[in-house]
Amino acid sequence: MSKAKETILEINLAHLTHNFNYLKSKLQPGVKILSVVKASGYGSDATVIAKHLEKIGVDYFAVAYASEGIVLREAGIKTPILVLHPQPVSFQNIIEYRLEPSLYSSRTLRKFIATLTSNNQKDYPVHIKFNSGLNRIGFDEIDVDHITDQLSKTDTVHVVSLLSHLAASEDHTEREFTIEQINTFKKTAESLIRTLGYAPILHQSNTSGILNYPEAHFDMVRTGIGLYGYGNEAKYDAQLRPVASLKSVISQIHSLEPGESLGYNRAFIASSFTKTATIPIGHADGISRQYGNKNGFVIINHKRAYILGNVCMDMIMVDVTDIDCNEGDEVIIFDAKSNAAKVAERSGTISYELLTAISPRVKRLVIDDN
Ligand SMILES: *Cc1c(COP(=O)(O)O)cnc(C)c1O
Repeated sequence: MSKAKETILEINLAHLTHNFNYLKSKLQPGVKILSVVKASGYGSDATVIAKHLEKIGVDYFAVAYASEGIVLREAGIKTPILVLHPQPVSFQNIIEYRLEPSLYSSRTLRKFIATLTSNNQKDYPVHIKFNSGLNRIGFDEIDVDHITDQLSKTDTVHVVSLLSHLAASEDHTEREFTIEQINTFKKTAESLIRTLGYAPILHQSNTSGILNYPEAHFDMVRTGIGLYGYGNEAKYDAQLRPVASLKSVISQIHSLEPGESLGYNRAFIASSFTKTATIPIGHADGISRQYGNKNGFVIINHKRAYILGNVCMDMIMVDVTDIDCNEGDEVIIFDAKSNAAKVAERSGTISYELLTAISPRVKRLVIDDN
């Protein structure tokens, strides 16, 4: 592969296939896979990711907001798309683009039914979201009678699935809490199914739920981070392959004498002779301020180069005093080896945040050697 000559995010589709197949190998036959492609496919490119997954046999997609689903529909994606967190203001668009809302409260259920009614819709696919302990969005168990009552009065909706979300599926110390969540969801779902008269798809697991809680797989699982190559744990990371690699290049090399300062606010002062490399990536590309002042690092010619001083809008400067390198050399911010989880951890954050921060300004390069 050719070396980066500017800041680029490589998207490796062979790695995506590998991750999809690995996660699938954890499921009983017949369990469906929903792929979460929200936040631009975890910072990559939702359309590229969705088209590839559609080709290799995904069952469902999910996005957070209607606008993300519209982008996929306009790109020609035909697979059902669940909108996890829609607002009533987008209900008309949801219907026009044949997206499927997760309805999580009396208010959203009532308003969606009203929008369907005014659009003369019948049996429109919807999903009912239950809160089983995350306390973020979702109906509670005590709302089942109310939901039943609302649904019995209308033929506008067809409930495709009942879902809930785990709060701590990656935390082994929270096993008891998670089992409780699974049981709560089971009980709530059974109680709604009894009055519904038909059995929707049940789903509760995210990536760590897939890996750690086979008892929470139900009829479908929802995987996001795992597809992109991260398993929230070293032993799973070792089985997965990061899809995105963020690369850049050395623009210029500077030499600082002791006492000279570097960058804004003179946040770094050289205490000895220091060689620095300036790299064209900064806040506006998704490198947040917390990576500055030696919290973050990049890889240049197989060696770690720590970020010196403050991150700028369009640049960072790194310490290459002990690295043999030249202007024009490639710089790895993260790739399959120096992965985003490791880079994020040193700065007190997680792979999810580093990946989804990569801004549209960074050019995407799709690598497809399938
Ligand atoms: C984002 C999200 C997921 C995906 O979680 P991962 O940990 O990335 O697998 C699944 N379900 C819901 C409701 C989400 O919001």
